[in-house]
Amino acid sequence: MDGISETNGPSADNAADALKNAPQNAPIIDPFGRSISYLRVSVTDRCDFRCVYCMSEDMTFLPKQEVLTLEELDRVCSAFVRLGVQKLRMTGGEPLVRRNILWLFERLGRHLESGALKELTLTTNGSQLARYADDLYRCGVRRVNVSLDTLNPDKFLAITRWGKFDKVMEGLEAAKQAGLAVKINCVALKGVNDDEVHRLVEWCGEEGFDLTFIEVMPMGDIGNEERLDQYWPLTMVRGELAKRWTLEDSDYVTGGPARYVTVQETGRKIGFITPLTHNFCESCNRVRLTCTGTLYMCLGQDDAADLKTPMRAHADDAPLDDAIREAITRKPKGHDFVIDRRRGAKSVARHMSVTGG
Ligand code: SAM
Ligand code: SF4
Repeated sequence: MDGISETNGPSADNAADALKNAPQNAPIIDPFGRSISYLRVSVTDRCDFRCVYCMSEDMTFLPKQEVLTLEELDRVCSAFVRLGVQKLRMTGGEPLVRRNILWLFERLGRHLESGALKELTLTTNGSQLARYADDLYRCGVRRVNVSLDTLNPDKFLAITRWGKFDKVMEGLEAAKQAGLAVKINCVALKGVNDDEVHRLVEWCGEEGFDLTFIEVMPMGDIGNEERLDQYWPLTMVRGELAKRWTLEDSDYVTGGPARYVTVQETGRKIGFITPLTHNFCESCNRVRLTCTGTLYMCLGQDDAADLKTPMRAHADDAPLDDAIREAITRKPKGHDFVIDRRRGAKSVARHMSVTGG
């Protein structure tokens, strides 16, 4: 897939003007008519794992003073909810290693109670879930995405470098006991977990989990690992699955990059997130906030907006709301992820742990 991003044309400029003049509290709609209803928040860039496709082993993390406080994260998330965001996902880095993170979930729970927010959720590596699952449920979380690329403990250690497989299994059990619906996120890695896809589908069926396969995305320097070697197109994963399972196309849509099928034999859903082989941008309803208060309007583009400065400069929220509205006028039509030998594999310099995937 080659560059699909386009600069804003004349009609986009008109839409941008209309957006800037929109009344306060009008829902945020971008120049391409997409309503922004979903915010993903990277609450920390730190992590207790060092997954080979995500980080190098000697990652340098941000100095703590650059990171938004939990109070500031609450303030900026609440601004988005005021402007029409209905779904918030906490991610990272590993969201559950941030100190006092439960405070943020508790605070944001008020927007669920008021009905302004429809869903509060998180993506986690599962290492701390045994400790937090009950409390997360109490705060209003009902679903959680847990990243797990293999059911083999040795491979798990090789992929995550620092992860403890048993802790993740305990975490998954705790999530189930707490009543949280679980979706497993699995990055498809050629030569690593390509022999396990059938077992993963079977296991998710047994456990009552949905499953999403993700293509490796070209983000950030990851040291010696070679993305061209890791890349395994999901068209091939799907082809492999179809040899053993009856996959029924599903009309389940989330406004996100996944396309879903239902596995007839297990009754569970499988999603395929294919940024490299499928253009999902036309229905994109989301933006991403980093833990330093930078808003990325597209996972695959570098343009961003600073929300920390207007937030810290003013006690009232109007300048923050204006900065969010202005940023949305710059949401691009699409991304330009490319993995090919001609252009190399890194098309976005920041790591996934910065924007949280
Ligand atoms: N630490 C949490 C976790 O692992 O679930 C949340 C943050 S992690 C960055 C979010 C998701 O991004 C995970 O499912 C992870 O597998 C995925 N991810 C990280 N780097 C990736 C890459 N280069 N390509 C595709 N997916 C990636
Ligand atoms: Fe940590 Fe998640 Fe990245 Fe793995 S994918 S290193 S768990 S942030």
